Amino acid sequence: MRRIAFLLVVILCSPLLTVGQQEEQAKLAGFFGNSSADEQAWEQKFQAIPSPDNMIADMKLLAARPHHVGSPYDEKNSEWLLAQYKKWGWDAHIETFQVLFPTPKLRVLEMVAPTRFVAQLREPPVPGDPTSSQQSEQLPTYNAYSPDGDVTAPLVYANYGVPEDYDQLARMGISVKGAIVITRYGHSWRGIKPKLAYEHGAIGCLIYSDPRDDGYYEGDVFPKGPWRPSQGVQRGSVVKMELYPGDPLTPGVGADAHAKRLPIKEAKTIEDIPVMPISYGDALPLLKALGGPVAPSDWRGALPITYHVGPGPAKVHLKLQFNWDLKPVRDVIAKLPGSTYADEWVIRGNHYDGWVNGAEDPIAGQVALLEEARSLGQLYQQGWRPKRTIIYCSWDGEEPGLLGSTEWVEEHGDELATHAVAYINSDTNGRGYLQAEGSHSLESLVNNVADEIQDPEKGISVGKRRQLAALARTESPEERQKLESQKNFILGDLGSGSDYSAFIDHAGIASIDYGFGGEAGGGIYHSIYDDFYWYSHFDDPTEAYGRTLSQTAGTTIMRLADSDVPPLDFTGLSDAVGRFVSELEKLDKSEINEIQWQNKEIQDGIFAASTDPTKKFVPPATEEVPSPLDFSPLDDAVKNLKQAAGHYQSAFDKVQEGTPASGASFQTVDQDLISTERALLYQEGLPGRPWYRHELVAPGIYTGYGVKTIPAVREAIEQKNWSQAADQITIVAGVLQKEADSINAAASALESAGQ
Ligand SMILES: [Zn+2]
Repeated sequence: MRRIAFLLVVILCSPLLTVGQQEEQAKLAGFFGNSSADEQAWEQKFQAIPSPDNMIADMKLLAARPHHVGSPYDEKNSEWLLAQYKKWGWDAHIETFQVLFPTPKLRVLEMVAPTRFVAQLREPPVPGDPTSSQQSEQLPTYNAYSPDGDVTAPLVYANYGVPEDYDQLARMGISVKGAIVITRYGHSWRGIKPKLAYEHGAIGCLIYSDPRDDGYYEGDVFPKGPWRPSQGVQRGSVVKMELYPGDPLTPGVGADAHAKRLPIKEAKTIEDIPVMPISYGDALPLLKALGGPVAPSDWRGALPITYHVGPGPAKVHLKLQFNWDLKPVRDVIAKLPGSTYADEWVIRGNHYDGWVNGAEDPIAGQVALLEEARSLGQLYQQGWRPKRTIIYCSWDGEEPGLLGSTEWVEEHGDELATHAVAYINSDTNGRGYLQAEGSHSLESLVNNVADEIQDPEKGISVGKRRQLAALARTESPEERQKLESQKNFILGDLGSGSDYSAFIDHAGIASIDYGFGGEAGGGIYHSIYDDFYWYSHFDDPTEAYGRTLSQTAGTTIMRLADSDVPPLDFTGLSDAVGRFVSELEKLDKSEINEIQWQNKEIQDGIFAASTDPTKKFVPPATEEVPSPLDFSPLDDAVKNLKQAAGHYQSAFDKVQEGTPASGASFQTVDQDLISTERALLYQEGLPGRPWYRHELVAPGIYTGYGVKTIPAVREAIEQKNWSQAADQITIVAGVLQKEADSINAAASALESAGQ
């Protein structure tokens, strides 16, 4: 379900190595993600195997028919996937969970005043695109986990429906109480839109794709170009994933046959008001019929109208009913046993369920993962034995709410806590740039891999291309200099929106999310047009980047599986935490400044003087100015973390210099290293959402996909809950201290193992 956001933040600067330096690097056998000569030979063999032709054939097959959760073709795909893994020598099985997955029974949207209009709510087949006409199998356009409802009310346009938009409506003196809100897609995870509409008193919510963001303003629409046509609709889940992903009825436990299930009414992640996605074709008559003030300039889209806010005179009737059934999700799980550390698991996953035919999302990622599995199986037959156990997962049920991966992680929580080394995810894939987000302890590993894999169209490494693209986007000499001086590119931080969530957020397993993209337009996301025809015309027709994803993710898996100790290091991590803390300090200052300035604007009559008296304007109320928070516990924790990272680095260097005896065992080091990500969990979880236990990253409570770093403190500041912010500073500082202890333990274990 991931929507790729290319944040090419900070990038690799890779100096050319002398021959001597190269030998020196080769000697770092298995550490920090570099490979010994033997491992390098296997990696090179591996990288030559993934075949674009196979990927094209697999995509044709897997995306041939609609394959959403519970559909016959989804089941057929699961059996086919299982057979492939078995054929390639993997020990594979299907693990099934029963999850709540509502599907539409009745959908009505009509305007009842000032004129009558009945929304089409249907995506027409496109001539020439053979799978777009499989209507009897396509899921209708809807938002999964909207409640049933039957509401009629005046319409209000609320822009993207994010918190600032409601502040703006309040300034304009417009309330959405008792109204149906129409918002546009973008700027937040879609589930945030009905949640905020409800919190502000609305009784229904529509979400449409504006052509400004996703349609003809961006480029030619399908089938002439890749962009969203007038009746194209973005389906999608609105489950309150910011509380917990997975089956709404079984939070925290695997939804197996014995699981105790909540009554639907008690499931906290189902939305409160009926919500439905619509096309810009259906939205146009509704928006055109709105009166009231003209929308602020940054609220205006690309429809051929003057955008008004309402409320009314447009009045709409929205009626929705769903089948609230339990449906099976079938995860296909495949293992290659480890030869030395069989109890240490390196895990790789990508989902295979789609909203409809889902060629880009998710089959493009799935076929890359399959080619990795086939290639690793081939190496195994040739005698390669990974030191650690490798587990490949083809997830089902990602689209409705990360169901397959979350239930699997919850089901196997205890085993994963002991055995899991790392998790590597991918989802959509296409032509373009490397995107890599994840745990900063894996930053060196990712950089080393990205520096070796070649971009298929540019003749440079994918890491180098990422670096140069980021440099092209810099806006100041300082930014440029900073970027060029960095040894490694910095990984983006994980929010939510794909199957890594349970691994990192709930189980504390170091995780990476990979994908390529950024060149193709994205106008078919979650529509019937995301199919083989679209993908092979507009995205990655030769699967060159499918192969590149296979090489990147597969090489990462091989290094995690084969290195003497897991290739984690902590300089990137301690730098990241230092950055997060200084951002929090800045945020606290700027919140205080904002409040002081707003009070001044009110007291000095600045608001009053700068508004048009013929237009309604409601000034905000003055607020009490808080005292600055005390960040010293976090500052101290950062210092300790940096010291611990240095300790590990010097222990590592010593082991390298001493050239440990070939029989030296690093198993105790492994256990200490594995637990460093676990140490970032706080067992009681984040305030108000105990499922989320990682203290460095979580999806934002009001952004959804978007990440919040040190979320417990950051969100308390953003919500002006100063006492909670102070309490959470103490808690996070305690967790960071635990992390420093854990890194120090790994360093000491390495020192004694190396002697
Ligand atoms: Zn996806």
